Amino acid sequence: MVSKDIGLPKKVIFCKKCVISNQRPSSVIEFQNKIGDKKPIIDFDDHQICSACRFNDIKNNDINWDEREKKLLKLLDQFRKKDGGYDILIPGSGGKDSAFASHVLKYKYGMNPLTVTWAPHLYTDIGQKNFTSWIHKGGLDNILFTPNGRLHSYLTKISFQNLLHPFQPFIIGQKIIGPKMAEKFNIKLIMYGENQAEYGNLINENKKPTMDKSFFSSNNKYSMFFGGISVEEIIKKSDFTISDFEPYIPPHFKDLDDKGIEMHYLGYYVKWDPQEMFYYASEHTGFSANDQRTEGTFSKYSGIDDKIDTFHYYTTLIKFGIGRATYDAAQEVRNGKITRNEAIALVKKFIWKLLVVLFY
Ligand SMILES: [Zn+2]
Repeated sequence: MVSKDIGLPKKVIFCKKCVISNQRPSSVIEFQNKIGDKKPIIDFDDHQICSACRFNDIKNNDINWDEREKKLLKLLDQFRKKDGGYDILIPGSGGKDSAFASHVLKYKYGMNPLTVTWAPHLYTDIGQKNFTSWIHKGGLDNILFTPNGRLHSYLTKISFQNLLHPFQPFIIGQKIIGPKMAEKFNIKLIMYGENQAEYGNLINENKKPTMDKSFFSSNNKYSMFFGGISVEEIIKKSDFTISDFEPYIPPHFKDLDDKGIEMHYLGYYVKWDPQEMFYYASEHTGFSANDQRTEGTFSKYSGIDDKIDTFHYYTTLIKFGIGRATYDAAQEVRNGKITRNEAIALVKKFIWKLLVVLFY
């Protein structure tokens, strides 16, 4: 049963720069999420501006991107292997962001990346095509990891029933596959694309190039939670065993440290602009936008590889009043591609239609 009160502010306010409201939760460690937990929300300042917009100002005005690129080169030289082995691991789906990251790291910066993909629940046709093209046309090595579908669908079901969050097991798997594979292949550097903090976690989290390791590690596998239920409980009430959970179990925090595995995100070093990533990926890895707009929004090129994406955003609309067009429009405003008024018009067009379906 989904808890009705998840601690969101009673008074809804909207950011004065974009269209995000104060109902948007910030990123949490998904496998610690229990039924009834209150959601932390993104930060708003005294001027009613969200922290994602605040960070965007810093990104556009205060960061010296040439200096940041020099830092990147220094970091890469530190991890570069001379014996031909893989020296950097890049988790991704072959969407525009991971296609960009892996391609520049190999062909511009001369690294030897291994890309790793946690498979979608169900590939869309365009997602399958882009994934194949990323590897074949983009010229990259990849491991596609597909978890046991019987367990994955069970976890997805309980996450939907208990938290209205069917995407949760995917988010957990997708995060953990990076450090897990890095350990197996003795790769010390993992590079993600953007930092989740860019979308509204505390601004200070964007001041460092590394990701928070607590999102990628756990010291007790039995006390991880899926759909708000601990692994220990799930095992007791089902025929699954701890062995079935192997792909979801992250390394121990200490092991990551002892092995010297570092997790960085490229958005710290290179100015991240989703539309530019799209152009780059189209040219270099054969990435294509969909031939029709994504359900619930106006865009055609982001988050298009898994059939469950649309459903995920539908649940965020129900829980937070924030649907896919709102997320997309807010981002386009920040990137200077549309004005706030245009964003409001898009939200009205695509979200209100969905709300009518929901409430009438
Ligand atoms: Zn904003």
